[in-house]
Order: sequence, then C-alpha cells, then structure tokens
Amino acid sequence: MQAACVRFLVCPVCRGALRPAGAALRCPAGHTFDVAREGYANLLVTRHRRTRMVGDTAAMVAARASFLARGHYARLADAVAELVARQLRERGAAAPGCVVDVGCGTGYHLGRLRDRLLADGAAPPCLIGTDVSKHAVRRAARDHPDATFLVADTRAGVPLADHAAAAVLDVFAPRDGAELARLLAAGGLLVVVTPGPRHLAELAERVGLVGIQPEKRRAVAESLAPWFRPRQERRLRYRFEVAGPAAAELARMGPSAWHLAPAALAAAERLERLTVTADFQVDGYAPR
Ligand SMILES: [Zn+2]
Repeated sequence: MQAACVRFLVCPVCRGALRPAGAALRCPAGHTFDVAREGYANLLVTRHRRTRMVGDTAAMVAARASFLARGHYARLADAVAELVARQLRERGAAAPGCVVDVGCGTGYHLGRLRDRLLADGAAPPCLIGTDVSKHAVRRAARDHPDATFLVADTRAGVPLADHAAAAVLDVFAPRDGAELARLLAAGGLLVVVTPGPRHLAELAERVGLVGIQPEKRRAVAESLAPWFRPRQERRLRYRFEVAGPAAAELARMGPSAWHLAPAALAAAERLERLTVTADFQVDGYAPR
C-alpha cells in the first residue's frame, strides 16, 4: 500500500476519509481496518462478509496467475494500458487522479499499465485495485507492492472518494454505471473490457465453458448510457495456442470454474494442442 495513495480511500461504513493509523486505516468516526502483512487493506464490511458470492477462490486465482504469466493476454493488457496512458498524457499533471481497476483480480492490468508508463518516462499515478476476493487481492499486493489493493465489494460502494479517478478500468468485472460515474473525475476515462462473441470459442466447444451473451457489447453500452457516452471502440481479436495445462487454467480461472465437471477439466488437461481465439471488446467511455 502506497502511503501517498491513502488520501483517495474512504471508510466503507460512513464514507469518512481514511487515514493511516499504525498498521491500520482509520476514519474520523473511529472505524478501523487492518492493513495485512502483504500490504493490502480489507474494507469489506461485516454484513457483506457472509454473502455467498465471495469472489474468486484461491484455486481460481492460482489458475489465473499461472495463465496470465504465459503472456497470452498481454496484447489485451497493452491495449488497455495504451488507452489509459493516452488519457493521462492528455489530462497532464494539472489534473491528477488515481487509476482504479474495479475487480482487479491479480493486479495484472495495473502492473502492465505501470510498466508501460515507466517505459514512456511518465510517473505512474496512484494505482488502486479493488476486488471482492481476498485471495486475488493478497496475490495482487504480493506481486505489485508499488500499487494499492483493497478487498472491497463494488455492490456496497467502492471505498474511494467521489471523482477520485482519472481513469477506471473494468475488465470482465460486473458494472454499476452510477458507481463508476461517481468514481470518475470530470473528463475521466472509463475502460470496459468484455468478451466478444468468439472469445475462447474453441475451448468452450471442447470442454463446455459458460457461453458468451450475444450482443454483449450493446447490452453494456445500454446499461452505461445514463452516465456514459462511448468514446473509443476497439475489437481486439487474435489466436493463440495452448496445451493441456494452459487450457485447464483458462477453464479454472473464469466463471465456468463454479460448475465445470471434473471430467471436463480432465479433458482440458489432456489437450495436446488447441488454437484458441481471444476476442475482446475494449471500449472507452466518457462521463456525460
Ligand atoms: Zn467510518
């Protein structure tokens, strides 16, 4: 956790500003949240701790981290980083704000963004990732000590100040238009990544993954329309080859992990080689 970035954080109970207090964060009303040894803060409030939907499991997170380390999704991360880097350049230093990845998983996209900004000679802003999965956030904090990670439930309100963000990333995560609009600064950029219709189609046919909703992109744009207008639109489509272990990681890391039969996973493990389509819709939105 970056001390300089705590200024963007608010208490998930009362929305008061959080401040460092020893190895914890505390708001003026006295609500206190421990900062874990790995450097992340758990800002889940009790009433949400027992909800059934607890986010990615440890096994899903491990599969995701292994798969992403293979580099097959680097082109996606670079496309996202390109949009955000341009946005930060255009805003300039006079309009600082953080960059938030809502549903950040293992912090892969924030990490690639940081690398991209450093390669450009730009000073990265505060990079903040939130996820409802403690397993994901713990991994993200371990892998990216120079970013700030929070366990938080978007449905309960992202624990960040109003209009704190110069850019918000939402990569394959649930979207709440009103909440995303609250986070974004005026002139900020929302980057939404959703699966295109052919995403992982070959693997889905072989092992039976969760299908992609048709017209997904239009549905997303419509759900965001009261708060956002489309600014950039890009379909990123390419093929990559996987063998059994990577195919099984792909099956285990996504929503299919919740209901894939062991036999389907075993079938994925046995694949010798499969060419898979990556089909991403990478869209930029501006607040209205
Ligand atoms: Zn509070």
